[in-house]
Amino acid sequence: MSMPEKPASLSALRGVLPYVFGHMDVAAIVADADRRIIMINDAALEMFGYDEAELKGHETRIIYADPDDFEEQGRKRFNKEAQEAQETYITRYRCKNGNVFEGETLGGPIKSTDDENLAFVGFIRDVTHRVATEQTLSKLHSITSSRDLNFQARVDAILRLGTEHFGLPIGIFSHIHGNLYTVMQAVHPDDALTPGMTFEFANTYCSHVFDVTDVRGFYHVGESDIRAHPCYQSFQLEAYLGSTIFVDGHRYGTLNFSSPEPTRPFRAQDIELVRLFAEWIGHELARKRDLEALENAKQELEILARTDALTGLFNRGYMEDRLSGEIDRSRRYKHPLTVALFDFDHFKKLNDTYGHAAGDEALKLFAATATRMSRKSDVVARWGGEEFLAVFPSTGVRGAVTFLERLSDEIRDADFAPEGESIPLTMSIGVASAHSDDDLDTLVSRADAAMYLAKTRGRDQIRTQSDIGKPKT
Ligand code: GH3
Ligand code: MG
Ligand code: MG
Repeated sequence: MSMPEKPASLSALRGVLPYVFGHMDVAAIVADADRRIIMINDAALEMFGYDEAELKGHETRIIYADPDDFEEQGRKRFNKEAQEAQETYITRYRCKNGNVFEGETLGGPIKSTDDENLAFVGFIRDVTHRVATEQTLSKLHSITSSRDLNFQARVDAILRLGTEHFGLPIGIFSHIHGNLYTVMQAVHPDDALTPGMTFEFANTYCSHVFDVTDVRGFYHVGESDIRAHPCYQSFQLEAYLGSTIFVDGHRYGTLNFSSPEPTRPFRAQDIELVRLFAEWIGHELARKRDLEALENAKQELEILARTDALTGLFNRGYMEDRLSGEIDRSRRYKHPLTVALFDFDHFKKLNDTYGHAAGDEALKLFAATATRMSRKSDVVARWGGEEFLAVFPSTGVRGAVTFLERLSDEIRDADFAPEGESIPLTMSIGVASAHSDDDLDTLVSRADAAMYLAKTRGRDQIRTQSDIGKPKT
């Protein structure tokens, strides 16, 4: 026997709908062609807080937070021409008690066999928290990707974002070492927490987080089994949510949010968010450390590259660059510039008699003495084996010679005594001042010629460029 062909009618629908939707967890509302409610399931009654009688026969307008949205959905989905629902959308609904929530909705017509829109159905899920989490994630993204903010400003923004999202007004980024809990950064409604403040770690709720190296949340400590915790006893903090911060796999500290008031139970999304915040801080700390290590290594390399290993003075490569710069500067500002070239006297003999190590000690003695006696603006470098070059900016020949006499006296009189035998160290020194057309080579070769003159005239003396070509006086 076959069923008679019978067009589906609204009255038939009315009878069957409660069986179809009654047991569903998702809120379901059915309205007639005029958008008046004809069926509402238990999940929807609970969601909106009404009795069935309060809604039946009413326009669905009653559940919208904004009348414009009711009109808009009427144009889009709940009208005679509308097609069956394909996609969900999010709109704001209002409960009987006035609470507004974000409802993810699948809604559209129920059609008769001849394709007429008989009624409308809507399935609604409260996605307020999901929407809030998405918004917080998007804010986190813009904080962490902002080029305008430095690390500290980003952490501050994350602390504020967390306090807002979790509804916990105190936010702390802490460093934990042994039993010392140090506030690195914090937000507090009364600014009662400042960076550098310390607490006993065991007295903080973070001790729970740190030891399990995971996220922990307490939303009403006073009614929980940790109400004997010293943190509750001393600070009366009712709610807490915290995560461990790891830097390169090592525990560094915590990111935590707390409140003197109890809150709602934390949701899985809250746990994941605070974990994500802490992860970002941990990555940034690791990156900062790497950058600092790289920067230090770079600086050390730069120092190494311009330093003479034996004496610690600048090396020749650095001095050539530096002296070229000083020559340019002296020309530009019309300041005098004087250089001196030093060469130890009979250094071979010193090496041969007392050994190479003794020679090295003599070189170091010169370096230490010249460094100690020279002005900050003077530059002294090892120019070759036992030769040194000194540059005296803004200094003429006479000023330089006065200094050089004191320096060579000091070195000669230093008690240099290899194998216990005191020997005077003497040097031949040539001095030259820059001319307007000098370059590095012409200036240094004049100093070299003056130094050679000092050698030929008997060593242990200072000769200047003006002595060259003049008879011995
Ligand atoms: P003069 O008075 O003519 O300058 O005689 P000198 O023996 O000093 O001659 P010269 O300047 O030509 O010799 C330099 C010597 O310095 C040769 C080399 O063995 C020695 N020397 C160069 N570098 C070093 C060094 O780093 N350590 C030591 N101990 N000796 C060095
Ligand atoms: Mg020499
Ligand atoms: Mg020499």
